[in-house]
Order: sequence, then structure tokens, then C-alpha cells
Amino acid sequence: MYDIIIVGAGPAGLSAAVYGLRAGKSVLLLEKESYGGQIINTPEIENYPGIKKISGYEFAENLYQQAVDLGAEIVFEAVTAIETEEDIKKVFTAQNEYLCKTVILATGATHRKLGIEREEELAGKGVSYCATCDGMFFKGKDVAVAGGGNTALQDALFLSNYCRKVYLIHRREEFRGEKRLEAALREKDNIEFVLNCQVTALNGEKTLTSVTVRDKNTEKEKELSVSGIFIAVGQEPQSQIVQNMIDTDEGGYIISGEECYTNCSGIFTAGDCRTKSIRQLATAVSDGAVAALKACEYMEMC
Ligand code: NAP
Repeated sequence: MYDIIIVGAGPAGLSAAVYGLRAGKSVLLLEKESYGGQIINTPEIENYPGIKKISGYEFAENLYQQAVDLGAEIVFEAVTAIETEEDIKKVFTAQNEYLCKTVILATGATHRKLGIEREEELAGKGVSYCATCDGMFFKGKDVAVAGGGNTALQDALFLSNYCRKVYLIHRREEFRGEKRLEAALREKDNIEFVLNCQVTALNGEKTLTSVTVRDKNTEKEKELSVSGIFIAVGQEPQSQIVQNMIDTDEGGYIISGEECYTNCSGIFTAGDCRTKSIRQLATAVSDGAVAALKACEYMEMC
């Protein structure tokens, strides 16, 4: 019987482990792939307070070692279901069944992909899913942003501050994002809207050098010379394992506030899988701390 089982060993889950262990609790982390989460794909982190520059891999490695040195147990098994039986929680994987007093769901979210050829191959070589993380590497260069929601609009605005030119490629005539953001984009003379267009190819030998877009009305294709494309076509939370048990919003995000509670007593949530407006490394680790301390508080009250 563990005090806390954490599902997902990304920054939120590992931070929750550190806080839980330092509060004297036994902690098991269950991770379906490798530890570190999405941040391991970021070449350099330059916006984490207190650390001027670090690679995503090194950050994840440090956090993992910190949790392990404190006594975290980590098992690489995918969680398939969770059940509650009075105050006891049962966490199932394909191989085992684990018992605990509290669960922290830190399963994260994945960036939706465009789903075109070479997208995976060129990720980190011009293809990025995070303008805040990687934008600075394209200072003075021409880049593209794909998407029409708030993230894409904000990314385009952010990048226009230090990129030479930003193409904003959207598959419709109208943006889904807020009008005030669209208005701010129209004020910028280095942003070009490429509307009614779908990205059809990512070109370049070792790194991205251009993208091909197809106009949906005319079916004509054109090539835009860019050294980076920021794909901002939405996110998909990894909350499927608790879909029938925990309340989620229409996008599948686990409904939760700042205190990281879910609607299920003794089950908490942290990081990108929960409802929140800013999904950043700093907010994920802070969620991890809050969720673990709230889980400790819950155990004291039981
Ligand atoms: P989103 O609102 O779901 O927008 C995704 C965009 O990507 C849509 O314009 C969609 O086009 C497009 N898209 C989806 N799949 C595509 C594909 N395969 N190829 C090309 N385009 C594709 O996602 P988001 O912008 O990441 O925002 C997620 C949520 O966070 C939203 O609720 C948003 O309002 C919120 N958010 C808020 C702020 C803020 O400051 N308030 C900032 C960022 C995000 P269609 O329009 O054609 O469907």
C-alpha cells in the first residue's frame, strides 16, 4: 500500500514525487514510456526561473535523479484503469494491480500533429510545437506558424517580435482565436496571413528550409522559404484512462482548479492534463508541488 501513486513521470509527476517524498510519504510513479515527458524534446529551456539555460533532457534527468535519490519507486507500466474502494485506490496496469491512499494524475498532453510526411523526422530540426520554448533560436529568420486558435495567434505575435517574417498559415478564412489577438497581428508589418491553406509538405535535407502549402479553393500549391515552422493545431490531453470516472471538459482535460482536486475524493491532478490557461514547464512543476501537498493534507484528514 503506497501513500501516493503518481501516474506519469513528466515534470508535474516528478515534482509531485519530490514533494510527497520530502513530506515522508511512500511514492510510486507509474510511467508508460520514458520519464521526462514532453520537455525532453526541447533542445534548450531558457524561461525556467532560476536556471538561465538547460536542455530539456538535462532538466528531466536532474528532476528524475532528485526524485529517485529521495526514494521514489518508478515502474514502467501503462496504467489501464483506476478504481476506488472506500478510502483505498486500486491502480491497474496490464501487468499488475497497485494499492494506494491517494492518486495524482499527471498524464500530460500531447501536441496535435499536422499528420504530414517528415513531421517526426524534422521535429527539433525546424519543426517545433512550442514557440515560447524554441522561438529564440529563430531570431532574425523567416518562420511559419500553422493553426488558427489562440495558441497560433499568440505564437505568431510572440515570434514577430524577433523573427524577420512570420507566415501564419490557417486552413480557414476565419480564425478561431480571439479578435483582439487577430487585430494585434494585423498591426504588425512582418506577419503575412496565408489563409485557406493547408501545409502539405515539409522540405529540407537535414533541417527545414521551406514548407509547401495548398490553397483549398484553387488547389494551387506554393512554397514558402522558412527555417522554422511552429505547429499550433491544438493539444490532446492524455486522460483516456479516467474518462468514465473523473469529470473532464469537452476537450478531455481533467476539470480542476488551482488546488489540483478532481471530483473524485483522494484523486488529484497536476500539469498539462488538467484544465488551466497556461501550460508551461513552470506551471507543471508548481502543480506537482500543490497536488502532492494537497494529497498529504487529505491523508492527514482521513
Ligand atoms: P484550438 O483552439 O483547438 O485551435 C486549434 C487550431 O488548429 C484551429 O484553428 C484548427 O482549425 C487548427 N487545426 C486543428 N487541426 C488541424 C490540422 N490537422 N491542420 C491544420 N489546422 C488544424 O487550440 P489552441 O489554439 O492550442 O487552444 C487550446 C485552448 O487553449 C483553447 O480553448 C484556447 O482558447 C486556449 N488558449 C487560450 C489562450 C489565452 O490566452 N486565452 C492562449 C492559448 C490557448 P479550425 O479552426 O479549422 O478547427
